Amino acid sequence: MSESLKIYNTLTREKEIFKPLAPPHVGLYVCGPTVYGYVHLGNCRTFTSFDIVYRYLNHLGYKVRYVRNITDVGHLTGDTDDGEDKIAKKARLENLEPMEIVQRYTVDFHTVMKKLNNFEPSIEPTATGHLLEQMALVKEIIAEGFGYESNGSVYFDVKKYNEKYQYGKLSGRVLEELLASTERENLRRELQGQEEKRSQEDFALWKKAEPQHIMQWESPWGMGFPGWHLECSAMSTKYLGKKFDIHGGGLDLKFPHHECEIAQSVGSTGEEPANYWMHANMLTINGQKMSKSLNNSILPVELFAGKHPLLEEAYSPMTLRFCMLQTHYRSTMDLSNDSLKASRKGYKKVINGLRIAKQLVYPETAENQIDSKQIEQIDLIISQLYEGMNDDFNTAKTLAALFELLKKINSLESGQIQAENLGKECFDNLIKTYIVFVEEILGLFEEEPADQKRLVESLMQIYKEAKQHKNYSQVDQIRANLKNLGIVVKDMKHKIDWAYEE
Ligand code: AMP
Ligand code: ZN
Repeated sequence: MSESLKIYNTLTREKEIFKPLAPPHVGLYVCGPTVYGYVHLGNCRTFTSFDIVYRYLNHLGYKVRYVRNITDVGHLTGDTDDGEDKIAKKARLENLEPMEIVQRYTVDFHTVMKKLNNFEPSIEPTATGHLLEQMALVKEIIAEGFGYESNGSVYFDVKKYNEKYQYGKLSGRVLEELLASTERENLRRELQGQEEKRSQEDFALWKKAEPQHIMQWESPWGMGFPGWHLECSAMSTKYLGKKFDIHGGGLDLKFPHHECEIAQSVGSTGEEPANYWMHANMLTINGQKMSKSLNNSILPVELFAGKHPLLEEAYSPMTLRFCMLQTHYRSTMDLSNDSLKASRKGYKKVINGLRIAKQLVYPETAENQIDSKQIEQIDLIISQLYEGMNDDFNTAKTLAALFELLKKINSLESGQIQAENLGKECFDNLIKTYIVFVEEILGLFEEEPADQKRLVESLMQIYKEAKQHKNYSQVDQIRANLKNLGIVVKDMKHKIDWAYEE
């Protein structure tokens, strides 16, 4: 464990030394996707950012309980209390069961996370699986005087809460200003006789369902469904306790989602839920946030196949991951063909280094002529790798140091540096650190060449030529090599082909 990890806390707007509540245990909650559509590259960025957080905390020796939810009810199209449930809407449009929608996009989400080598969370709770906990929380908030029932729905009383606590702490918004900006909207709604809320900033804890609404449950307030913010408060408390260490999500969730989560927790327990709030910045495309609703999203399958009008070619999952690591998670990341191409180069360099690192061995008959200057340099680079990660998970800094370490590995391979001059301890440390950073902390692995078939075809071409030239020893060798790959050569009278070995 480390005393030197600093995390930028959105709540205090400062980088703070990370002090877990109950070391070695760490509670990490990350808001998961609303599963009403395929995840796009923007979503992937946020989840990859928190995968790095999880990986590094694990590396430091913490025992992390990582909870990432699946939103399968309650998230309305207006992102506030307006509109239709996103999942119910999709189910209606496609004439499917809401749970068919949920299943389809949850599976897609998991497939993409696996491709990007993001670890699974320890617990992945769903909102529909925690309705009892959510209703219990609504009751607690009502009992504390911060929730009120209105026409079958229950709302959080923001004004009342703000008299005792501070609403807007996380996002830096001031309630009076929020209210002023919504006054006109209020008036419009009142005129239309739609007003259920005491104040426009109040948000739904529980919503009354109209009879035709396809996702609804019985509650003390009649048939209805939970408000979007409620699930995260209920599930984080259930699995991580009333107070836990880190709460994360994309920056666009800071307000209103996370602000409301804080209000719900404080309004029911008197305690703020998380010690550190972390937000991943947005992935943009041509300077604009990538978003389903803006119609500018690129899906991972489109990227991996190179099939999208904005893409010049295909880019692999590890190229994308590398690209994400090159930008610090708190900066916006603009995706472009240029940055992806550069990332592919960088990724390949790193992976070539990995292959070399795994092959290098310290000579047994080493006569040490220690080069202390070299050792000093290597130790410095290794400390820089950690400095990067300790500086609020700055993967960009860490990658820069990793390339310096890679130079040493390449020099070892070319003989510019002799292993024995480093001594066994430094040599082992260099190799181990490189491998650990690449594989364990940054989560990069060696991708198989995308097209195995092309490789087989080119070997077959050589086979045919060797045969023409009656070079039978080469013919036999290629045949044997292909067999090792599970491929048999079909040398027929009329043609030469290959098949999978049965
Ligand atoms: P959603 O499926 O809309 O609930 O979003 C899932 C996660 O992806 C949330 O944490 C969002 O903040 C995050 N997210 C959405 N769009 C982007 C984007 N363009 N860049 C980075 N993260 C995003
Ligand atoms: Zn959430």
